Amino acid sequence: MLSYKRSSALFQAAQQVLPGGVNSPVRAFNSVGGSPVFVERAQGAYLYDADGNKLIDYIASWGPLLFGHAYAPVIEAVTERAKKGTSFGMPTEVETQIAEKAHSMVPHVEKIRFVNSGTEACMSAIRLARGYTKREKIIKFAGCYHGHSDSFLIAAGSGATTFGVPNSPGVTQGTAKDTLLATYNDLDSVKALFAAHSQQIAAIIVEPIAGNMGCVLPAKGFLEGLRALCDEQGALLILDEVMTGFRLAKGGAQEALNIKADLVTFGKVIGGGLPVAAFAARAEIMDHLAPTGAVYQAGTLSGNPLAMSAGLAMLTEIENRPEVFDSLEKKTAYLHAGFEKVFAQAGIPVQINRFGSMCSVFFSETPVTDFASAQRADHGRFKKYFHALLSRGIYLPPSGYESYFLNDALSYTDLDATIAALQDAVEKGEI
Ligand SMILES: *Cc1c(COP(=O)(O)O)cnc(C)c1O
Repeated sequence: MLSYKRSSALFQAAQQVLPGGVNSPVRAFNSVGGSPVFVERAQGAYLYDADGNKLIDYIASWGPLLFGHAYAPVIEAVTERAKKGTSFGMPTEVETQIAEKAHSMVPHVEKIRFVNSGTEACMSAIRLARGYTKREKIIKFAGCYHGHSDSFLIAAGSGATTFGVPNSPGVTQGTAKDTLLATYNDLDSVKALFAAHSQQIAAIIVEPIAGNMGCVLPAKGFLEGLRALCDEQGALLILDEVMTGFRLAKGGAQEALNIKADLVTFGKVIGGGLPVAAFAARAEIMDHLAPTGAVYQAGTLSGNPLAMSAGLAMLTEIENRPEVFDSLEKKTAYLHAGFEKVFAQAGIPVQINRFGSMCSVFFSETPVTDFASAQRADHGRFKKYFHALLSRGIYLPPSGYESYFLNDALSYTDLDATIAALQDAVEKGEI
């Protein structure tokens, strides 16, 4: 059983000067309890923490690190670039190079604008959709996450066709009324919103594979149904591929699921571990952005050469090693099968949802297909599961509402060690 004493002390100190001791809430372990692990360094599939523990990592910085930590081609690109200056607020050639690369890899992407976070990408994508369609409302799905801009921090109001309500203090009613909430995998809930707000809906935004209520897969026909509704109603379909882009396939979910977006957002993998995100579409839509068009969007550090070099190195590696997606899928399927067997033998009811290298374990007897069913899972049991594995050197996402992200540095020995850790925890009655 590993000790996390020094991490605990560091967390105490952090809480004095950082709200909650962290710069992003899920890191604080609020939903699993206990004290977060402070990382000192990482290499490949392993985290080395402040107590000198070595952990097998299943979050990969929440997705970006497809090839594992401190991946040499990315680190070399960043190091070389940093020596020449990190930001100029002027155009650099590497911005065109990464844009050309993205265009060649992702279907339907003609032009792309780079920003610094997925939040910014999604926020800007809906502004562009509104400017383009001259409509004000958007549809999002309960349980899908598109960053923390005001328009997305909205919960369902009473009844399917009512307006959304703020789910954070500080978000105004005025903003909330323009975000309509639908149910994931329920096309009827979307149709009802179009019926109630005819000609007012600029866009539907959706995670093609949901990863922010745990991993939840789109039912057969769901995304296709959204595509058809958008076409019929003159709304844009925004696929939020911040998680899935360059992770499920080089062309993201659009390629993996053969679905065509009007606008697509990227983040995570596209920056290779540096703060990069982007939104993209066909030229006719993107040219509505300033300076060509009237929809305003800007950023002092957007497209800075340091971050762009990391992203370009990452996309280049993906292009050169296309087998990575197959390799990741096989590893994730192996873990999935191993976990399923252990839980089945112990008679612990679970639903393991998986697509490619994203997966999550829900302690539930019934399928998890939307936010309500994700909430019905046994999150108390998840806590025990999380801590049982953490104490054995396995780092899982510290919440039952997050996806695991496998990285290709994970070996089958690591996967076997992880399955063995679960087996041991189950045998000792810890889960
Ligand atoms: C992570 C994520 C975001 C937000 O990106 P940040 O870089 O954290 O702002 C948006 N959408 C999806 C689907 C995400 O997974």
